[in-house]
This record gives sequence, C-alpha cells and structure tokens, in this order.
Amino acid sequence: RIGFVRGEFVPLRDAVIPVMDRGFLFGDGVYEVTAVIEGRLVDNDHHLQRLERSLAEIGIANPFSIEAWTGIETELMRRNELRNGLIYIQVSRGVAERAFQYAEGLEPTVVMFPQFSRVQSNPVIETGGRIITVPDLRWARRDIKSTSLLAQVMAKHAVKQAGVNEAWMLDGDEITEGASSTAFIVSASNELITRNLSQDILPGITRRTIIEIAKRHGLTIAERPFSKADVLGATEVFYTSASTIAVPVIEMDGVSVGGGIPGPVFRSLYDAYLQDVMTLPAI
Ligand code: PLP
Repeated sequence: RIGFVRGEFVPLRDAVIPVMDRGFLFGDGVYEVTAVIEGRLVDNDHHLQRLERSLAEIGIANPFSIEAWTGIETELMRRNELRNGLIYIQVSRGVAERAFQYAEGLEPTVVMFPQFSRVQSNPVIETGGRIITVPDLRWARRDIKSTSLLAQVMAKHAVKQAGVNEAWMLDGDEITEGASSTAFIVSASNELITRNLSQDILPGITRRTIIEIAKRHGLTIAERPFSKADVLGATEVFYTSASTIAVPVIEMDGVSVGGGIPGPVFRSLYDAYLQDVMTLPAI
C-alpha cells in the first residue's frame, strides 16, 4: 500500500512519524474518511470542507486547497489501484518539544492512506444489524473530528465483546449518535428523526446527503434529540457513515427494534444514495 506521508508518496510499511509529533503525544489533530465506490470519491467536497472546519476550530492552517487535497486523493487511488474502499486523511499540529502550549506556525503533519473494502457490499444491509447502548464519554466539542478517540475505542471494544455491529451513545436518556455513525429513527407518525446539529455530535456528511435525499422523497424530517424509548417505539432504526453508507438496525441491547427487519424507508434511502453515487464521474 502506498501512503502520502509528510509530503511524499511512500510504501506505508516504511513510513514513520517523529515521536515528538503532537498527534502522537496529545491527539492534537483532526481526520477525515471518504468512501471510494467504483472509482468515485463520495461526497468528497463536503468531507474536505468539514476537514477545513475542523482544522480552523483548533487553529491549524489548512495545508492544502480542496483541489490539492483532491489531487492527492486521486493520485493515491491511482497508485494503489483503489476502486473500492476508503481514503483516510489525518492532519496533526506538527512536531515540537512536548508542551501543552504550542508555537504558531508549526508545519502540520499530513498522513493519508487507502483502505480496501467494498462499502456498498455489506451483508448487514440485508439482514439488519444489532447495536448496544453505551454512555457517551466524549468531550464537549464532538463537532470537531478529532483524532483523540479514546471514548470511541472503548465503545467499539464493548461492541466487539457484545458481538454486535455498533454502539449508540447516551447522554442521559438521549441518544447522541453512534460511536462512528449518525443515528436515525422513523417514528410511528412517519417522521424521519435525527439529532439536530450542535457541539454534541459530529456533523455527519452521510447524514447530510441522506437528509437531502429524504427531502427529495417527500419525507417529513425532524432534526431533534430523541431518547432510547423513542428508539423502542420506532418503526425503523438505522445509522449512517461514510464507511457503511447506512445500516438498518433490528436489535438494541438485546431487544427487537424496527419490526425486526430492515424497513422500506431505509431501503429507499440506501438505494437512492448508491444510485446518486453512480452518476458521479469515475476517476
Ligand atoms: N459520528 C461519529 C462520531 C463518527 O465518527 C462518524 C464517522 O466516522 C459519523 C458520525 C458519520 O459521519 P460521516 O457520515 O461523515 O462518515
């Protein structure tokens, strides 16, 4: 695998980062993940705009323009013959003597690499997935896509131990979002509900596109907090992310939800999403 590390295309297994990188010492950095489906970079401009915002929020100058980022992504796809998978981008504040305070003007460390997978061929789409709920242990700026991910590492370990597909995180009674996904339900009164954007959740790019498609389909959309009880009363339950598109949920904490099978609203949104992707030009 060829990565892009500190300005160069290099075999990933030989790539190294200095120990004094603030990304390593403090988790002082941000990241993005964009899906590649049949040679298409999915929702890429929105991912790169969110990267720009994350960087601005923590005071790191964006090292590249949207066009330059896209150029490197395209080159990574070409060099790795990547048709299906993910492109990971990480930017940390840079290398310096260890101190919480940072000097202005450090050179940010950029690391990018591909991961091979078929986002659009997940068997859980057909069978439905299972989730557990866990307390949301994260910090108060979840809108920044920070590389400090210890709470998510712990949530995903609980997912593995429970043998399920994802964890939804709870702030009191309310679901904030998935450990690496945005949470959606369809209520008995046929509203598509997902939590409103704020500092409490990541502004999911797939969330954004799914809402756009849902509007096109004439669905009623309510962006507001919802509770675990709302999930139990929902007719459909699903989550979205760049790396899964969308996954229907049929069980939460061992209890059947969403009628126990993937639902029609999920299916129509998922199919429309993939259809739209295939209208993008392939690289
Ligand atoms: N919420 C969290 C906490 C995430 O980590 C992710 C993706 O990794 C998402 C939501 C989904 O965001 P996106 O659709 O941009 O992948």
